[in-house]
Amino acid sequence: MSRCDILISGGLLVDGTGDAAREADVAILDGRIAAIGPKLAVDATRTIDARNQVVAPGFIDIKTHSDWTLPLNPKAESKIHQGVTTEVIGHCGYSCAPALPGKAGILKDYLSPSAPWLTFIDQSFHDYLNSFPTTSTNIVPLVGHNTLRLMTMGLANRACSNDELEQMASLLEEALDAGAQGMSTGLFTPPGAFSKPEETIALAKIVKRKGGRYFTHLRDEANDVFSALDEAIDLGAQSGVHVQVVHMKLSGLDNWGKADAMLARVAMAREHGVAIDCDQYPYTAASNPLKNLLPRWVQSDKLDEMMARLADPANRARMRVEIDEHGLNNFGRIKDWEAIRISVSPNQSQFAGRTIADLAKERGIDGLDCVCDYLIADKCATRVLVDSISEDDIQTMIKSAHVCVGSDGNCVAPYGITGQGKPHPRFYGTFPRIIGHYSRDLGLIDLPLAIHKMTGASAHALGFTDRGWLKPGCAADVTIFDPAEFAELATYEKPHQYPAGASTMVLVNGTVTLDHAEHTGALAGHLLKRA
Ligand SMILES: [Zn+2]
Repeated sequence: MSRCDILISGGLLVDGTGDAAREADVAILDGRIAAIGPKLAVDATRTIDARNQVVAPGFIDIKTHSDWTLPLNPKAESKIHQGVTTEVIGHCGYSCAPALPGKAGILKDYLSPSAPWLTFIDQSFHDYLNSFPTTSTNIVPLVGHNTLRLMTMGLANRACSNDELEQMASLLEEALDAGAQGMSTGLFTPPGAFSKPEETIALAKIVKRKGGRYFTHLRDEANDVFSALDEAIDLGAQSGVHVQVVHMKLSGLDNWGKADAMLARVAMAREHGVAIDCDQYPYTAASNPLKNLLPRWVQSDKLDEMMARLADPANRARMRVEIDEHGLNNFGRIKDWEAIRISVSPNQSQFAGRTIADLAKERGIDGLDCVCDYLIADKCATRVLVDSISEDDIQTMIKSAHVCVGSDGNCVAPYGITGQGKPHPRFYGTFPRIIGHYSRDLGLIDLPLAIHKMTGASAHALGFTDRGWLKPGCAADVTIFDPAEFAELATYEKPHQYPAGASTMVLVNGTVTLDHAEHTGALAGHLLKRA
């Protein structure tokens, strides 16, 4: 080779395998890595001087909900600025398709608390993918089990019939044939929570037969997290499908300190031949609709009904007792109401960033009354951050080579429609936080391992062979950054901030998409359909 499009010269190469850094140039031709080696003698249309910079594979965000924002922010700015070049979408059982004829409204009602700015239309999964916008990041689409169940049996609180299972199976096959990389479940919330393991195992067998993968938000992440993990492992054992446990965590004070035990159980399953991986985000706060924190019996998909239940003093008394005893639904016991912070509040945006403890004090009422009053005033559409995970458990998982990095965040930008409210800082900070805070500053893991956990390990969990590593023949997804400067700046109070690092460069399929920390506007991402 005598010519290439781009030569990345003089950088410190960290190739995604976990191997030590080495000095090497990278030559890129036609969107792929053409050669790697010290001092390559090759003419290039553009040479990027990477002296004193780390040259790594573009980061894979294995866990996102960017399908909710990519149509509004196709430049995926909060992701590109972090060095992310690939995003997996459609997680936790939520996908924006299929919507059967006449049923887009059901999907809209169901998803709009999480995706308030998105338009929903009747469309097959095939049409959804075919009309998906061109984006800056590569996209790996999943079809969601909650969506399949909604289309088949609405929010019915019961096991599916054989007919309904057949309908879900046929929609699933259609989505997989259209290019979905797999199926996601969100078993913590209706309607997935109403399914029995037999239902998800039957569907997982179809996913396996089609060569796809299974991604699960466990049925419980708090007081029953171990039995929920066992359910996922059992599904993997019975169906043979690869299982990804997404945003793995232990929520609630009573469950803290058990990350080692959880990782041991995953390792044991792997030893027994179950194909299983997991991922985490490096923050102690989770994000959820506020209403989901209350006992199940209070919740209703009918807004009037739910608001009436919230207003009733007898219901509040019953909730108070249950929460004192078991903690919050999905999250377990929290320290106090200081742990709940308003994130996005469509009808009361002035309170974004305030905690329930703070608002309750101001209003002279207790935390639970404050939650109920708040939900009524915000028509139950409030999203909150819940500080419910232990920092020790987070660090235990960070130290494990087997836990991939996923933000669980949407792509957003500090301006325009996605710049509203106070989203979780993980939307902007996940990847630089692992590299800057946990690897460089705390020294928990070395840089090659940190990068492996967000590139090669994720590529392996997704079954990729030509993305996630820097080696000849791979897609030229590359992130170049200054290892002394790269750091997250987003905070809970001021989340809409890109990471530090004025020299950061990001290439997607060989196209420069971030040039010295400026987005070039390039939309060079590929929609990565299942082959
Ligand atoms: Zn989830």
